[in-house]
Amino acid sequence: TFVIVLKTAEQIEVMARAGRVVGRTLDMVGTVIRPGMTTGQLDRLIEDFIRAEGAIPAFKGYQGFPASACISIDDEVVHGIPGKRVIEEGVIVSVDIGAIVDDYYGDSARTFGIGEVSEEKRRLMEWTLKALHAGIDKARKGNRLGAVSAAIQQVAESQGYGVVRQLVGHGIGRAMHEEPQVPNFGSPADGPVLEAGMVIAIEPMINMGTYEVRTLPDGWTVVTADGRPSAHFEHTVAVGPDGPRILTAA
Ligand code: MG
Ligand code: MG
Repeated sequence: TFVIVLKTAEQIEVMARAGRVVGRTLDMVGTVIRPGMTTGQLDRLIEDFIRAEGAIPAFKGYQGFPASACISIDDEVVHGIPGKRVIEEGVIVSVDIGAIVDDYYGDSARTFGIGEVSEEKRRLMEWTLKALHAGIDKARKGNRLGAVSAAIQQVAESQGYGVVRQLVGHGIGRAMHEEPQVPNFGSPADGPVLEAGMVIAIEPMINMGTYEVRTLPDGWTVVTADGRPSAHFEHTVAVGPDGPRILTAA
């Protein structure tokens, strides 16, 4: 059944601690990611950092996922598995991280440009981040969830980009994925009415070309159907009494 678990103010403070670990970890990634490093090396740094913060990497072992971060390069949309692949100059790298503190989850992602990236990739990252923040701004009590979705879609499609439909954001709390689903497309009239105490992970996955995606034979890595690049930004956001609160800021 469809149950949205509301969080108390105290529970949201715990989630903010988990979220802060994720935000700090992504800040760390921004300082160390460089051409020549493998995605496996980056994953190891991420896992060590999360554990040094006293948190648990949420993705490791999740439904069998073998690493602490999803690292997805260029046409990889999400759920890339870290390994021997070398991060090269000019690519864009989406890093998605989760952490658990006192049984509560934080979940956030950023896409990083490596060295000199093309103008069209730079713009894709810029507009995906803008779409995320347009969605966050609609995460207010009294709005329907679809207001978040519609805002993201409008910003992304204003640039001619494809909004991924097969994957969506989600409620989050004592589980990484709770109700409701948070699509990145839709109408402001869709979905449940937002209430203070709801916590959602808002995560536009925006493709330079078609919105269609497929999954590689590894069972995890989602890639664009047309091979063009994709960007991904995500925050865990609490619907507060006075507006949205980003819990995964560093
Ligand atoms: Mg995530
Ligand atoms: Mg998520």
